[in-house]
Amino acid sequence: MRVNAYAAPAAGRPLEPTTIERRDVGPDDVLIEIQYAGICHSDIHTVNGDWGPQPFPVVPGHEIVGVVAEVGSDVTTHRVGDRVGVGCMVNSCGECANCRNGDEQYCLRGMVPTYAGTDRDGSSTQGGYSTHVVVDADFVLRVPDGIDPSAAAPLLCAGITTYSPLRRWGAGPGKRVAVVGLGGLGHMAVKLAHAMGAEVTVLSQSLKKQEDGLRLGADHYFATGDPDTFAQLAGRFDLIVNTVSAPIDVDAHLSLLAVDGALVNVGAPAEPLSVNAMSLIGGRRTFAGSMIGGIGETQEMLGFCAEHGIGAEVEVIPVGQVNEAYERVLASDVRYRFVIDAATLR
Ligand SMILES: [Zn+2]
Ligand SMILES: [Zn+2]
Repeated sequence: MRVNAYAAPAAGRPLEPTTIERRDVGPDDVLIEIQYAGICHSDIHTVNGDWGPQPFPVVPGHEIVGVVAEVGSDVTTHRVGDRVGVGCMVNSCGECANCRNGDEQYCLRGMVPTYAGTDRDGSSTQGGYSTHVVVDADFVLRVPDGIDPSAAAPLLCAGITTYSPLRRWGAGPGKRVAVVGLGGLGHMAVKLAHAMGAEVTVLSQSLKKQEDGLRLGADHYFATGDPDTFAQLAGRFDLIVNTVSAPIDVDAHLSLLAVDGALVNVGAPAEPLSVNAMSLIGGRRTFAGSMIGGIGETQEMLGFCAEHGIGAEVEVIPVGQVNEAYERVLASDVRYRFVIDAATLR
């Protein structure tokens, strides 16, 4: 079927209205009528060509919430009318050790990204800035009724990206968790870590968003631009989740970890990060990374968010404002996620 979409025609060019072809609904597929699509920093990196050549035109969007409009003959997990979501991947091999372990995002044959990827049938995948999408049922998440659908969209990337490391590294009662950066990812990390029962500290460049941070669930808020911060917080944290995609002073941040603490990166700076091995050795510390989460874990995260009344802080925009929204994301002028109202594409 031919559907309306917004696409980047070439690297660095503004997005513009277009139409794209969605494949026929196969036996294992779900056709989703999209309601909302979040704007992730990755969308901007991709269409700007920061991450290498792309199969233009590219329709970005991997924070998708909508309603099931049709299901294939073999689909038993979703029904027409269900509220569902799609995140950063739409397929994987399903057979490798990582897929079998529920870590489809680390598929040894490469997971199929929601856009700018190559799907099973050889076609380029196109993302959520569109009215409809056809996705393999195994990669379609159930979105509980308890979460507002526009606030649920960013959970599919920003939510799971922060939920997964918080869970893996044991955020919970009695744990001190620091979140570096209070943007799209960071604000989710604060909400989730707070709901898990951890003591949460925001480490931001300045105190500009302090009031917001405390409102979102942080117990403490420090400016990394203030050199006293690092002396004051030395050895304090069990876990630091670094959400910024700009380079940070890794050694200075490692010094804030307690023995056995971990600094986990979920933002991806273009330049390599350097680390002095002594910063790790001198505290049995871990320097780690984490990418989104598996499908099972993403479903678990949505349940957790519904149970705790958690959604993203969103600014809903008509699709015609997407290019302006990109400028504002790059200027850190969004609190905290833009979400496109897909009804404005119809
Ligand atoms: Zn994303
Ligand atoms: Zn696999």
